[in-house]
Amino acid sequence: MTQHQPLKVLYLSAEVVPFAKTGGLADVAGSLPKAIHALGNDIRVAMPRYGRIDVAKFGLKEAVPAFPVPMDKQLEEASVLEGALAPDIPVYFIENSKYYDRDGIYMYPDDAERFVFFCRSSLEMLKRLDWCPDIIHCNDWHTAIIPNWLKTIYKDDSFFERTATVYTIHNLAYQGIFGYRVLEIAGIAEYGFMYHPEMADLTEVVDFMARGIFFADVINTVSEKYAQEILTPEFGEKLDPLLRDRRDRLFGILNGIDYETMNPATDKYIAQRFDVNSLDKRVVNKLALQREAKLQENAALPLIGVISRLTDQKGFDILGDVVDHLLNLDLQFVLLGTGDPHYHEMFSRIAQTYPGKAAVFLTFNAELAQKIYAGTDMFLMPSRFEPCGLGQMIAMRYGSVPIVRATGGLADTVKDFDPRSSEGNGFSFAAYDRWALFATVVRALENYKYRDTWRKLQVRGMTADFSWNASARKYVDLYYRALAARGKETKLEDYGVVKK
Ligand code: ADP
Repeated sequence: MTQHQPLKVLYLSAEVVPFAKTGGLADVAGSLPKAIHALGNDIRVAMPRYGRIDVAKFGLKEAVPAFPVPMDKQLEEASVLEGALAPDIPVYFIENSKYYDRDGIYMYPDDAERFVFFCRSSLEMLKRLDWCPDIIHCNDWHTAIIPNWLKTIYKDDSFFERTATVYTIHNLAYQGIFGYRVLEIAGIAEYGFMYHPEMADLTEVVDFMARGIFFADVINTVSEKYAQEILTPEFGEKLDPLLRDRRDRLFGILNGIDYETMNPATDKYIAQRFDVNSLDKRVVNKLALQREAKLQENAALPLIGVISRLTDQKGFDILGDVVDHLLNLDLQFVLLGTGDPHYHEMFSRIAQTYPGKAAVFLTFNAELAQKIYAGTDMFLMPSRFEPCGLGQMIAMRYGSVPIVRATGGLADTVKDFDPRSSEGNGFSFAAYDRWALFATVVRALENYKYRDTWRKLQVRGMTADFSWNASARKYVDLYYRALAARGKETKLEDYGVVKK
């Protein structure tokens, strides 16, 4: 590893485990900062204090009393509570009851305003804490306005003189697209819309993701494969021309998982703890899961699990096309997920049609998720696209063998098993096609019959290193790259694509 000076990093995320989670972003935000801290850096996290976050349970204390935050032509009030991700990793919670005292995290009509407020308050908070970070690390559209601000309204602010920005794309499909009004709220109306010759839409909407990509000192996404894929129209979600322009500063860094909390040897939610040397005990979890899910209790039947947001991205259309054929085979199926009502209906029907064989939980349940990772034989992710995917890595850590479509991070982490050479750690297919999915499940079932082969696959997954060790170092390198890039561009004209 390169020897580095310790850095001061503010890490911003709309969701952070254990405080608020809807998907993988929260896992990353709850674990990557720990790994960056372990490398000797002063990293601190900021997120909104959603109404559901229990102040007493997490021991949150006041860090900054109420202060004014510019929003449009008014001043709103923010205050900051402080908790911790781990000793010496503070988490700053931005408070404002009007914006955050609600049941959920997102999907409100004023989301743009809510996250602009979060970002602006975070920057203003830093001044009140008198803590000036070297790096502001922004994640996804919710925090993408910050690089834009540092190159416009905060450009001449001496407090941020040396601060560089890193923008991480966790999922290009969620860009945060809003109307002109947002520019006024964010105080950047005078700069107008963005302009790009190949992206006509940009002159009519405020696309937060595009702004993060455009203004950040460096950009990355969460696997090497996805970093390449998003340069193409197929995966670029209409931002590929901009990404191609910025490819000199676009990197792919594979996500890791938290090896402390995701550990079958210590997991408090599962019926039987186990590790790679006591894999025989694992069957207790399978039987417990079958009982809880009201599946036929049978250790020999292969049990396939899915844990996912129920959206088109995750491949549920092709799964829906073959699920009846699959359930006519000798296997069991358990699904945990929430999302599109259309998929809720589809999987409810499956559960009703195949009692004892298929179980469906249409909720978000972190505890049940661990039981499924620990109790299934196979874990299915037939994604249409997948920036990184954490499910397949958690599954492997828990001895459940992944069956995936080879795209994005799934392609980077799961190598298709070849019985001739005995290489591979799971099963994968390339074409986004129902029969390719079906054939791959059948192939997994065939191999499941050979106990030694199966054990080898499980051991490979469990002993692979999907921790943050390697990737955290890559992020620190990225931070240094951002600092180096920072001084070079100070004038808006240098970007060449902003129209007044
Ligand atoms: P994404 O970020 O696209 O949702 P990932 O695979 O990167 O997908 O991460 C998903 C994370 O959310 C995993 O930790 C998975 O276990 C968890 N998860 C998804 N749906 C549920 C659910 N319904 N209940 C509990 N955990 C879930």
